[in-house]
Amino acid sequence: MAGDLLVWAPVKKEDNVLFAPLGAGDEPFLAYLNTKNAPKNVFFPHTETLMKFTRTPKGMEFSSEVNKADQSVLFGVRPCDAHSFVLLDKLFDQEKYKDGYYIDKRKNTTVISLACVKPPYASCFCTSVDGEPVSADGADILLTDIGGDYLVEFATEKGEKLAPYFGETKADAAADAKKAEAAARAREAVASTIPAHEIKPILDVNFDNPFWNTIHGKCLACGTCTYVCPTCHCFDISDEVKGSDGIRIRSWDSCMFPLFTKETSGHNPRSSQKERWRQRTMHKFKYYVDMFNAIACVGCGRCVMSCPVNIDIRKIVADISKL
Ligand code: SF4
Ligand code: SF4
Repeated sequence: MAGDLLVWAPVKKEDNVLFAPLGAGDEPFLAYLNTKNAPKNVFFPHTETLMKFTRTPKGMEFSSEVNKADQSVLFGVRPCDAHSFVLLDKLFDQEKYKDGYYIDKRKNTTVISLACVKPPYASCFCTSVDGEPVSADGADILLTDIGGDYLVEFATEKGEKLAPYFGETKADAAADAKKAEAAARAREAVASTIPAHEIKPILDVNFDNPFWNTIHGKCLACGTCTYVCPTCHCFDISDEVKGSDGIRIRSWDSCMFPLFTKETSGHNPRSSQKERWRQRTMHKFKYYVDMFNAIACVGCGRCVMSCPVNIDIRKIVADISKL
């Protein structure tokens, strides 16, 4: 906690670095490349109680008291992950559907990004999917290491409210120039590029292409790629009841799981991993573009690094571009 604020920051747990709330006396672990898991769980928790209910002689009583979002700071987010919040906003805060649980947490959380002046992994490809390694997109404050000092930029009014925590700040043209140099160097250093913007028209006309038989053979349906992904957002809603009391919970789900689309009749419209992998690719590079004019991938490379059988979305996109 910092004052009344709950602070989420990267912390080291055994061999992993994860975003977690800081306890009293805890220090963030800033010597990290990127976190194992994406920070989407701050706004869209792995498991979340949506409401409580009680059966009474007069009928059901409902309580939404559980929907409480603390004033929070999410500190040290990499720009690709901050970009993912912009993409998740398009879904959870759209005109025809407003998800109050997500929106309350987004509104009450100030996002402080830490620029990637050295893009961390060979699997990073943010610049291919509308991102930049030094960018305030999706953040309220951007911190950039300009060699010895950090340049602090307040990108939104919400960010400016935290200015007192940073002491006295002043405009500095030399620091701006160093940041521009760092940004150009970082852009050059992003190791991977993929033709992400070329494949939408190809996907539009290749739903039944035999190519879809070639991706999934090794896939274990473990769902890791979707759980670590900052933009994946499938969920399931279930009730847990004990006696007269119950809770309704929302939990992450995965389009990679065989049961994800299984219907009560036993029919499964995505009956094999082929259909599931086609859905994952289509969702990120076609359906999201159709719905929101945005690719639902931020190029963080987590799925590439975490897949136990080395299925690589960069190769899939490159292969599709040649169809
Ligand atoms: S992480 Fe790899 S094996 Fe697991 S579901 Fe994703 S593609 Fe399949
Ligand atoms: S699909 Fe892979 S590279 Fe793209 S945002 Fe998700 S985890 Fe990152």
